[in-house]
Amino acid sequence: MEQLKNFIGGEFVAPNEGKYLDKISPMTAQKIYELPDSSEVDVVLAIKAAQGAFSEWSEKKAVERSQILNRVADLIDQHREALARAESEDVGKPLDLSRTLDIPRAALNFRFFASAILHKHEMASDMDGEAINYVLRQPVGVAGLISPWNLPLYLLTWKIAPALACGNTVVCKPSEWTSKTAFMLGSLLNEAGVPKGVVNMVFGKGDPAGAYLVKHPGVPLISFTGGTATGEKIQTLAAPYVKKLSLELGGKNATIVMKDADLAKVIPQIARASFLNQGEICLCGSKILVQEDIYKEFTEQFVKHVESLVVGDPMDSKTFMGPIVSKTQYDKVLSLLEVAKKDGGKVLTGGVRPELPAAFKDGYFLRPTVIGDLTNCSEIHQTEIFGPVVTLNSFKYAHEAVKWANNSPYGLSASVWTKNLNQAHKIAADLRVGTVWVNTWLKRDLRMPFGGAKASGLGREGGEHSLDFFTETKTVCIQL
Ligand code: NDP
Repeated sequence: MEQLKNFIGGEFVAPNEGKYLDKISPMTAQKIYELPDSSEVDVVLAIKAAQGAFSEWSEKKAVERSQILNRVADLIDQHREALARAESEDVGKPLDLSRTLDIPRAALNFRFFASAILHKHEMASDMDGEAINYVLRQPVGVAGLISPWNLPLYLLTWKIAPALACGNTVVCKPSEWTSKTAFMLGSLLNEAGVPKGVVNMVFGKGDPAGAYLVKHPGVPLISFTGGTATGEKIQTLAAPYVKKLSLELGGKNATIVMKDADLAKVIPQIARASFLNQGEICLCGSKILVQEDIYKEFTEQFVKHVESLVVGDPMDSKTFMGPIVSKTQYDKVLSLLEVAKKDGGKVLTGGVRPELPAAFKDGYFLRPTVIGDLTNCSEIHQTEIFGPVVTLNSFKYAHEAVKWANNSPYGLSASVWTKNLNQAHKIAADLRVGTVWVNTWLKRDLRMPFGGAKASGLGREGGEHSLDFFTETKTVCIQL
């Protein structure tokens, strides 16, 4: 049985206490490898390695760091197939999705920030000849990077690339459910010439491994992506040290469909926004609000489309949805489904396991599920399900849809589907979320800010925002 190791100081090392966790396949419910159950000692060793590598890395010229990051991107591209297979085996996501979205995006993250760092310039001001001011932007030190299981390499590299581009060194704690591609990245970083200790990976549980990283005084910056409840804990743990924090948290995102939407065109896109990656994307639209004039027609066509989606073996190119990532997540989704039914929700399609070959009989599969008739006051409208379950409700006027979309503790994203761009603009302005898509979904320009309002997060990353977050800004004032 394969045993992953921590990646510390450029070496693969066994966890100090010799303890390992089981990785269970979402397809078969069988153990497929073991990963370190890291302790405080492992985290401290990784932080020491990162501290030791800081001077060499931060003193490199931006162009040298940029060249190394571009080499990492090239190596990710060269190993795309192996990385994509590992990602799909870990998460249960279709191989085609890993090949076309997750792994190319991981390479792009490195390429984007390798370029961005060369184009960064700072402001200066002249105080009428009396003094001049200019800004110095410097790396913060050792960055703690904690990532979730749904887009493992995609989201981890979204943090590693800007942190390194800015001259920081890092200690990463990927999700215990999906450690494989982060482990594989270690060898690629060595091959690309990233100096030893610049990137360190400690595998294991959120608590203790992740929590030690957050609490350690030698880590002045934490970038976290994960659930809102964990984000709250991280804020509390980091508060005594006044650390720089970026929190990308959960979402309960509305999909608003206006009566003029071209249904034949938008339904496949709305189904994708609902169920891509098994509905396990923080940006998936799980609360679909349809203008009442087209509600009946939309429901019929949407349900028919959803029933045509293939659920099964992630390695099969026909598969649109694989299994849910773990038993814990599967049970959570099923229990929320029961709450929806109890609250009067009607299962219009899904809610059951698909018929699959014997090899997958114990896997965590669920048909994409659409629930109608759920009352306004059901907690399901407020809760992030993070699985293949969406609700359908109707509204009369645009302002009602906005009110309903905003009636949530979360504020990550929303999508609006209409031919009337004036109306779309008005709705977008009124939604209290970090990102609004109009007639599209999940289109990301890496130059644009990304993050959540309300309980969906703290701060923004992306483009300039990432470079700001991963640096300390210093103003120098010179009397003339
Ligand atoms: P979790 O919050 O459970 O875990 C995220 C990471 O934090 C994991 O590495 C986890 O480790 C670690 N962790 C858990 N507890 C602690 C702790 N006390 N201290 C430090 N680290 C800890 O989220 P999930 O992995 O379940 O991911 C799903 C969530 O992520 C959803 O809510 C989703 O919306 C959100 N998300 C948000 C995104 C955004 O950009 N806003 C993007 C993608 C996902 P371990 O796995 O071992 O528990």
